Amino acid sequence: MYCYCINNFRIPYLDPRTARTAFKIRTSMVDIRVNFPNKYENLLCTRCKNHDETLSHIVKCYTGSDIEEIENVYSDVNKDIQHITKKVIIALEARDDSL
Ligand SMILES: [Zn+2]
Repeated sequence: MYCYCINNFRIPYLDPRTARTAFKIRTSMVDIRVNFPNKYENLLCTRCKNHDETLSHIVKCYTGSDIEEIENVYSDVNKDIQHITKKVIIALEARDDSL
C-alpha cells in the first residue's frame, strides 16, 4: 500500500502518477488553457476550436467520454479518484500527441 502526500492533500494508496494528477486537478494546476489564461492567445480547445479548453471538455473532445463527476477527484474513495484521473491522463496524452 502506498500513501502519497503533497502539501495538505493526503491521497492514500494511489500510485504516484495518479496521485500527482489528482493533486493537480484539485488545485487547478493541470496544464489546460483555462488554468493558464495568460500563457495562451485564447482559451479555445486546440482540437475542435469550438469550446474553451476545460478539463471536462478535453476529456469529452479527445476520448468521447463525459466526466460530469469531476468533483469525484475530491472523494475519499480511491476508485472514484482513479476513475476520473485516468480519463484526464488519457485526454492530456492524446492532446499532447496531437500538438
Ligand atoms: Zn475540443
